Amino acid sequence: MTKQILKAHKVRLYPNEEQQVFFAKSFGCTRFIWNKMLNDKIEHYKKTKTELKNTPAQYKKEFEWLKDVDSLALANVQQNLRTAYSKFFKQGTGFPKFKKKGQRDSYTTNNQKGTVAVTNNTVKLPKVGHIKARLPSKVNGLIKSATISRTPSGKYYVSLLVETIVNELPKTHSNIGIDLGLTDFIVLSDGSKVANPTFLAKLQHKLAREQKILAKRRAVAKADQRKLSDSRNYQKQKIKVAKVYEKITNIRKDFLHKLSFNLIKNHDVIAIEDLNVKGMVKNRKLSKAISDSSWSTFTTMLNYKAEWYGKTLVKIDRWYPSSKTCSGCGHLLTKAELPLQVRSWNCPSCQQKHDRDINASINILNEGLRLATIKTVGATGLA
Ligand SMILES: [Zn+2]
Repeated sequence: MTKQILKAHKVRLYPNEEQQVFFAKSFGCTRFIWNKMLNDKIEHYKKTKTELKNTPAQYKKEFEWLKDVDSLALANVQQNLRTAYSKFFKQGTGFPKFKKKGQRDSYTTNNQKGTVAVTNNTVKLPKVGHIKARLPSKVNGLIKSATISRTPSGKYYVSLLVETIVNELPKTHSNIGIDLGLTDFIVLSDGSKVANPTFLAKLQHKLAREQKILAKRRAVAKADQRKLSDSRNYQKQKIKVAKVYEKITNIRKDFLHKLSFNLIKNHDVIAIEDLNVKGMVKNRKLSKAISDSSWSTFTTMLNYKAEWYGKTLVKIDRWYPSSKTCSGCGHLLTKAELPLQVRSWNCPSCQQKHDRDINASINILNEGLRLATIKTVGATGLA
């Protein structure tokens, strides 16, 4: 079976000076219109207790320079602001925040009958034309939108959202349970463990080192009563830190992409715990393992890849006692009997010896298969 999906292609851009100026202007205008519209909404609400329905168009008379940038970029700001508002009211996420310069410099535009297009070595964008680009693979299908961004170290990227056809992957008749490891990244119900990439740890040490140097340079500039923006050494080091950070992010993403794809390819039902990562990050012991291993990014990837490739991802309730249950006989330990530091244990009921994480992943698989069956039977029942 084939499916039509939206896939993002991230492409490195090499804009010339003129194009860089255009991008800087676009980032500035979209940030300005976001902050302006948000501020006016807040002020209007304070006075009237009603929501102000403002649009970017109404600001173009007063701020003529808004006309210099792609109007779709401004329209998308309005759209994003609306989404942020409804998320706040419906899902209780944080109230929309004001944007600061240099933080996530980006804007989004849409393809209107070929206004966004690619050649072998360029990407064409509205109002700015062809930009030199490094296209990693062929971008096939209809381009829907393009998000242009600049990283803190000064690299430019465009993320192209493309309508693509994917083929479902063949069924393997193999199922797997996944537990979030403490020392390993994940532990699987087949007894295997996947470690965090070791070079990631090395880069993290490097990051810590460079951040220390940055802090020193900040202190020196302060002692000399110089502005940070005037301190060349500080600015140079700031870019160095940003580069290491971006490298870590890229390597981690690449690792998670490959791992999630292989799990989806090799198994039909994939069972994971639906962890409350926010709550767990507050727990200091676990915080490093979890934030480093990017559990939520990983589960997001598993989620959409399962959908693309015709596999089933089952999330187990976070209160399910996957660690404390003996996967052999079902005996349940008390919390006191299995503190976090105990990595292996013997079942007092059936005497089976368990690796804490492997046992948990087997329980996750069994519970996942039980839930998947209920779902399938329920679905056929309805048909
Ligand atoms: Zn047992």
